[in-house]
Amino acid sequence: MKPQTRVVVIGGGIAGCATLYHLTQEGWSDVVLVERNELTSGTTWHSAAQVTNFGMNQTMVGLKSHSIALYRELADDPDYPINYHFADGGIRLANTAAQIDGYRHFASMARGMGVEFEVIDAAECARRHPLISTDNLIGGLWDPLDGDIDPAQLCQALARRARTAGATIYRNTPVIGLTQHRDHGWKVHTTKGDIGCEFVVNAAGYRVNEIGAMMGVQHPVVSMEHQYFLTEPIPAIARADHRMPLLRCPISDYYCRQEKQGLLVGFYEQNCKTWGMDGIDPNFANALCPDDLDRVMDVLEGAFARMPALRDTGIHTVVNGPITYSMDGAPLVGPVPGKRNAFCIVGLRAGLGEGGGHGWLLAQQIVHGEACYDTWCLDPRRFSDHATTELTALRAIEEYQNEFRFHFPHEHRPAGRPAKTTPLTPVLAVGGAEFDVVNGWERVAYIKPAPDFTETHSFRFNNTFAIVKAEVETVQNHVGLTEISGFNRIEITGHGAQDWLDTMFCGRISRKPGKVSLGYLLDYHGNVKAEATIANLPGGRIWYGSAAAAQIHDMDWLTQHLPENSAIRIRSLTNDLTTLVLAGPNARKVLQAVSPRRDWSALPWLSACEAFVGIARATVLSVSFSGEQAYEIHLPNHQLHAAYLALVAAGEPHGMRLFGSRAAESMRLEKAYLHWKSDLICEYDPFESGLGRFVDMSKPAFVGKSALAARTGPRRKLITALIDCDHAPAHGGASFICGDRVVGTVTSGDWGHRIAQNIALGFVEPEFADPGTSMIVDILGAHIPAKVVVAPLYDPLNDRVKN
Ligand SMILES: Cc1cc2nc3c(=O)[nH]c(=O)nc-3n(C[C@H](O)[C@H](O)[C@H](O)COP(=O)(O)OP(=O)(O)OC[C@H]3O[C@@H](n4cnc5c(N)ncnc54)[C@H](O)[C@@H]3O)c2cc1C
Repeated sequence: MKPQTRVVVIGGGIAGCATLYHLTQEGWSDVVLVERNELTSGTTWHSAAQVTNFGMNQTMVGLKSHSIALYRELADDPDYPINYHFADGGIRLANTAAQIDGYRHFASMARGMGVEFEVIDAAECARRHPLISTDNLIGGLWDPLDGDIDPAQLCQALARRARTAGATIYRNTPVIGLTQHRDHGWKVHTTKGDIGCEFVVNAAGYRVNEIGAMMGVQHPVVSMEHQYFLTEPIPAIARADHRMPLLRCPISDYYCRQEKQGLLVGFYEQNCKTWGMDGIDPNFANALCPDDLDRVMDVLEGAFARMPALRDTGIHTVVNGPITYSMDGAPLVGPVPGKRNAFCIVGLRAGLGEGGGHGWLLAQQIVHGEACYDTWCLDPRRFSDHATTELTALRAIEEYQNEFRFHFPHEHRPAGRPAKTTPLTPVLAVGGAEFDVVNGWERVAYIKPAPDFTETHSFRFNNTFAIVKAEVETVQNHVGLTEISGFNRIEITGHGAQDWLDTMFCGRISRKPGKVSLGYLLDYHGNVKAEATIANLPGGRIWYGSAAAAQIHDMDWLTQHLPENSAIRIRSLTNDLTTLVLAGPNARKVLQAVSPRRDWSALPWLSACEAFVGIARATVLSVSFSGEQAYEIHLPNHQLHAAYLALVAAGEPHGMRLFGSRAAESMRLEKAYLHWKSDLICEYDPFESGLGRFVDMSKPAFVGKSALAARTGPRRKLITALIDCDHAPAHGGASFICGDRVVGTVTSGDWGHRIAQNIALGFVEPEFADPGTSMIVDILGAHIPAKVVVAPLYDPLNDRVKN
């Protein structure tokens, strides 16, 4: 065994092999993979191994495109050719107009990544896949590059290339322990000896949490049993002059591809089963679970109805094996939360097709700190401590049952809810609140007009439009109250805190007591990493406030940059405090009524103070995300209800009503306030993101400064556009088009109720960023005129906020 190496990758399935290969491609050849048995002896060997290009965001589409290009190149390698049925094509079926809308949006989004999907009608589906009936079918999404690959050959090809580039692979070498040193490096203990390394990668498939436990973490990943069968030859396939395309069916929850002259059909049954929850037999390797076709009878019927030839065909093999699912169904590819120099590539449920791309993005993160795409949708830090195994199992079952049913905008499925609540959640629910979920927190979306109101989920404006409009009107003309559950707050104290923060933010953060500043943190490439509000509170306490989703991400970034032996202390207040927001021209009057000992007109915009709200101790920030006069009131959870009751009573004479996050979203777009991980992504620097006023290059040093200084010209620029469309918003990912060329991508969009216009934010090529530029935006397949405008569209001088 080598005594020392740069990276040890644990696990020799597709995840580990792809990571190892890509590390060598990124220039690190002194890397090792350790596998407890033989390569591919986990899930990989028995995978149905379909390779698709479909994804619900551009990062997923981009990484899958990388897989396809890589697999093609490997397949064509004359020294080690592998079996890859490239571009048989594939169809995702649909039997509702709403699904077709979704497919049209995903096609618009994929075009921006150079991928051409096609939405086709039922007759065309049947023409391309001659075995299917068109009963209860209205069409589908055609993915021209879909295919399937030999999983063992694929991994061997990657391993072979990695070895040629200098990597070492130890087979039959189980990892039995991990020790981290003070310099953040690791010692990997195996049955054959120890290997020291700078970085360790968990690629252990369904044994993810055995390796997790060795480093003291529990990943929100569980395994499900998953079955497919292979049929005897089907004469119609033998007669066809082309291979059958892949099928994915959200109507009856199965997939299908050609295997020799027959079919491989896999099932996502409702009566599904978790696997390995009480521990995994150490001898389970190259193994399967017992067949259980009875369990899939419900979905089998649907597959038989769609492909009647199956009824006359024998089944010759059944495969039932463990497949991993994360809390939200998407893999965990990136840094291990709370750890240094530790990464994972786990929770892969379509790992054969995606693995090449995941390994590519992970290797870039390990070697360069970030990947070429923003990888937040895969980031293991996107959950917090609510992500227990119990909750993950509930969510995994739901994800499995809905495998091909994509989420509609604002659709939050019920499993495991409520996971995180405040003392006010039940009160607001009784008051008619409908909730969205943000990092597990139940967050008020809007107030239902009647207890039995049900939202019609759609890519178009839906039956919440009038509700949101009325809530915006209340905030604009009177005053609204809402709760921001889970808002991320970190308290920073101790000698040197201000100086240190100055090195973390790219702009000037006020040191004045009582002052609030908005600032941006950059990564080492000079791109936008995080956004935070900094409030200077009495006693030298500094509050760092950011998006609820950023809880673990920001905490890790801050703690990992603390100077050695510093006196600076950082602690999370997120679970202890909840924020109420009062917004609207009467906000100050309501606050004055519940907190009469202070003259609230003397608290200027962007200030902070401590006060009583009724009997509750509160920290109040005069900041606004709505563009109206507003106060963020931060309250200890035990006094939240008391403060709420006081505010409700004081608000009544001023026409106060509750409002939710949907109204806030509409208003923030009118003000062109940016949303972290929608509009603020680490693919662009602050100048490209329209945040030049928050950068101070004269500061002696800040994280990302040298990379930012070295930049030559913008790659793209963030714009605000008005869209000439009243039936649907421009969803994130939709393409801006000029002529027949995609020139940009929408990052977020919605109806601006105060200006009665459809607004989209997005990044476009610099020559299309000037106000007045006309373009097209592809909304659900329709080419809609869009015009770049000067932002913000509402109250550009901030008069309403300052008054
Ligand atoms: C029935 C079925 C059909 C599927 N069909 C498809 C499909 O059509 N398309 C698709 O894209 N995906 C499909 N998948 C999913 C895909 O196969 C998996 O996502 C993928 O194989 C996971 O690869 P992995 O490398 O993460 O895990 P694994 O293949 O399980 O590899 C993990 C490796 O880690 C090793 N390991 C574990 N613990 C240790 C230790 N302590 N020390 C050293 N080594 C260790 C294991 O031995 C194993 O080799 C399917 C899955 C199933 C079950």
